[in-house]
Amino acid sequence: MTRHGPQRGSGETAEGFSRRDLFRIGASASAATLAATLPASAEERGAPADALGLLYDTTVCIGCKACVAACTTANNLEPDTELSGGIWQMPTDLNSQTKNIIQLYRSPDGAESSFMKRQCMQCVDPACASACPFNALSKGAYGIVEWEPTRCIGCRFCEISCPFDVPRFEWAKFNPRIVKCELCRHRLPQGLQPACTEVCPVSAVIFGKRADLLREAHRRIDANPGKYYQNRVYGEQDLGGTQVVYLSHVPFAKLGLPEVGTESRAHYGEKVHGVIYKGMVVPAIVYAGLAFIMRRRFNAHEEHARDEQSKTGREDQL
Ligand code: SF4
Ligand code: SF4
Ligand code: SF4
Repeated sequence: MTRHGPQRGSGETAEGFSRRDLFRIGASASAATLAATLPASAEERGAPADALGLLYDTTVCIGCKACVAACTTANNLEPDTELSGGIWQMPTDLNSQTKNIIQLYRSPDGAESSFMKRQCMQCVDPACASACPFNALSKGAYGIVEWEPTRCIGCRFCEISCPFDVPRFEWAKFNPRIVKCELCRHRLPQGLQPACTEVCPVSAVIFGKRADLLREAHRRIDANPGKYYQNRVYGEQDLGGTQVVYLSHVPFAKLGLPEVGTESRAHYGEKVHGVIYKGMVVPAIVYAGLAFIMRRRFNAHEEHARDEQSKTGREDQL
């Protein structure tokens, strides 16, 4: 497929991959093989027929952030009040307390602006799952990308590999988690929709089957010629497709949605498996890095335990 991404910079290879891409690919490829769970080809990994998702329309959003507050409550997250001295919830980016954020794009001359809702895109072929050495992230029911705490070792390969910069690690926690939107899957068995779509006062974000959301998006495009950027639904094909899809009146790239073609990053990783594994050099480097990270986490744990012991007199299990 044609790759119609941004112009190649000095940090990119002849194939158009940046060094960051190659690092992500290396992590992704190593993980998949070492776990012996290399998934089927990307063509076989289309969205399931019952795939659920969100449709967000920038032309409807009023930036009230009701969805941000509702997401925090529904997911039992501590409000991020750092910017306001502990008073107001004011997250500036996704973080370990924030699975959903509304940001504002404004052009330098102020002529163009848009709100942007960011959360996990529920990729059809998720790079994060492909990168995870222990399948802690995987596609679950309705195509939702789920995180399983008992499998996660905190290596953060998912963070590095995500093309949308979504998963966040709980650095401040003793037993850290990877935090990302899981489409409020805990609410679905109770017949509830995601908290963000439930509270949105203008239905700028709606929930449903991916197929129905795409139909609705195309209905809006057809009904409003010239209103939407490129008459296109972002996520229908981009990066192998996503279950959270977007309509926008400004270029998607300005909202932080990467224009890097229709192939998934997990798919790129598979293409270079043969090269990466030659001589097992890259897996060795990746695992050396992993050992380093684990050692650092253990040292931090030890230091924290010593601090606690000196403060409380209680001895902690290391
Ligand atoms: S947006 Fe990132 S975290 Fe979410 S499914 Fe895709 S690769 Fe994984
Ligand atoms: S689906 Fe749930 S977790 Fe995801 S952004 Fe909406 S409220 Fe937050
Ligand atoms: S609740 Fe709806 S209108 Fe308000 S910021 Fe969120 S998506 Fe936009």
